[in-house]
Amino acid sequence: MSEAVQQLTGIGASPGIAIGRVHLLDRRRVKTPKMHIAPEAVDVEIARLDAAIKQSYEQLEGIKQRLREAHGEDHFRILEAHQLILKDEHLVDPAKRLIHEERINAEWALRRAVEDIKAIFDRIEDDYFRERRSDVDFVGDRILRNLLGEKVEALTPPPDAIVVAHDLSPADTAGFYRAAIAGIATDAGGLTSHSAIMARAFEIPAVVGLDHVTSLVATGDLIIVDGIRGEVLVSPPAEVVQDYRGRARRRVAIEQELLRNRELPAETPDEVRVRLLANVELLDEIPSALAHGAEGVGLYRTEYLFMNRTDLPREEEHLAHARAVLESLGGLPATFRTFDLGGDKAASIGAPTGEPNPALGLRSIRLCLRERGLFRTQLRGLLRASPAGKLRLMFPMVSGMGELRQAKGVLEEVKEELRREGHPFQEDIPVGIMVELPAAALTTDLLAREAEFFSIGTNDLIQFALGIDRVNEHVGYLYRPLHPGILRTVRFVIDAAHAAKRPVAMCGEMAGDPSFALVLLGLGLDELSMNPTAIPLVKSVIRSVTAKSARELALGVLDLPTPDEIEEAVAEVMDKHFSADMGSGKGSA
Ligand code: PEP
Ligand code: MG
Repeated sequence: MSEAVQQLTGIGASPGIAIGRVHLLDRRRVKTPKMHIAPEAVDVEIARLDAAIKQSYEQLEGIKQRLREAHGEDHFRILEAHQLILKDEHLVDPAKRLIHEERINAEWALRRAVEDIKAIFDRIEDDYFRERRSDVDFVGDRILRNLLGEKVEALTPPPDAIVVAHDLSPADTAGFYRAAIAGIATDAGGLTSHSAIMARAFEIPAVVGLDHVTSLVATGDLIIVDGIRGEVLVSPPAEVVQDYRGRARRRVAIEQELLRNRELPAETPDEVRVRLLANVELLDEIPSALAHGAEGVGLYRTEYLFMNRTDLPREEEHLAHARAVLESLGGLPATFRTFDLGGDKAASIGAPTGEPNPALGLRSIRLCLRERGLFRTQLRGLLRASPAGKLRLMFPMVSGMGELRQAKGVLEEVKEELRREGHPFQEDIPVGIMVELPAAALTTDLLAREAEFFSIGTNDLIQFALGIDRVNEHVGYLYRPLHPGILRTVRFVIDAAHAAKRPVAMCGEMAGDPSFALVLLGLGLDELSMNPTAIPLVKSVIRSVTAKSARELALGVLDLPTPDEIEEAVAEVMDKHFSADMGSGKGSA
């Protein structure tokens, strides 16, 4: 048992506070036995490998089966993706070749094949895809344990336990949902790691990226997971526990209170209506989004369809997926962003790799316009799904009218093709763009002639406007959404779009921060799209502040010269209205 209290800082991946006893999951690497083998043993080793792969496949099938009984079909995709990795020739063939050519045992060959794939993922600049290496790890680990005859199934943690692990596989996390655990803390992982995505979808407080929490705790230790601040406290003294219990209780009470707002409109006392929608990566997240009062999906990150796979989604898959999204929204709008793949993440579809500046490289809409087959397949699937609900299309990273016209041109060709083939689709699907590049922001008035709506993607816009690599920790301190340059850019976009009678949304993380919501309301945004759990609080901010006073605040801060001064002015107003237990208000976006 750890004696002294230790406070660790990681990434708050799923909000909420959990206090409980540690259930340490040993997901550490099993030792790989390494042996050279006799030529006549080659076939035996290959047969062992095949058997372990088959066994791994069946285990995942079993987990899927159990989930299906408990929760319907929604949670399968990641497990299916793991099954696909098991069949992936990039893993299986090289491992067999190594057994054959280098005369090594199956375990060693497998480990080397896994390491080679991970090395490719390591070279990928993008966070999301870099994290996918852990999926290859999980699959490799499962096969290895099966080769060694070890137990693979996750131990079921007791209810209310806090699961601490180096990293968690989606299969683990899906199982925890059933086990009703209280919280999650992991060494590895980032905001877009699967454990984070699923924890958010299942509303389990989680802190990831803690680096070494597994070496500091033992099963049974008392621990606090603060998913709001991204902190973990190991063996806290009674008074700290008391304090956190108080915070947790207040948070739950406030949350429940806030959830009463669920059916109420996000409308200010002086009757200005703002629409609050959800950012969604997986179909699984939609029920939670609706439960939090989302009025639709403002950003569907379709590139998550590429999760854990090397083949491309086929048209039928796009169709089935988009249809399921639309159906689960029951008539509320779903804004599908076309693939935002880029730089090295596009390796499997033939785009250049190893670009010096992948964020500025052949990515997103540029890549789709280059890889027309990929783009057309997605558009065909999405269009064919459109009769199932209210579908909107949004193009990412558009830099100007040329790209918008080209993208719309492809869309028109696809529509014509579908008409010829007799596939029904909705003719008047709204087509909009994300404003993520300063050039797009500054030409909003021109783009508004041909884009029907705008959605400001501040995650990238801030990166490009302030010249800060959003994944570079050395310049993270400069990433300030309330920088006057950002606020002025946002205002410019809103005013220019409104002059052309085009609605403007925001779907960057900035939109989900309650204190930013005040300013954004004041600047006149029509729609805010955010992590679904942020919706009730943002709604309560909107419902309690007049649009007039928000406008005054926004106009006032636009005159302040530094982010510090702007944050201070906003915090002053926030402190008057809202409890500190509910969220950042510190500019965490
Ligand atoms: C953005 O850039 O703000 C955005 C919402 O897109 P992503 O975070 O997927 O780049
Ligand atoms: Mg973006």
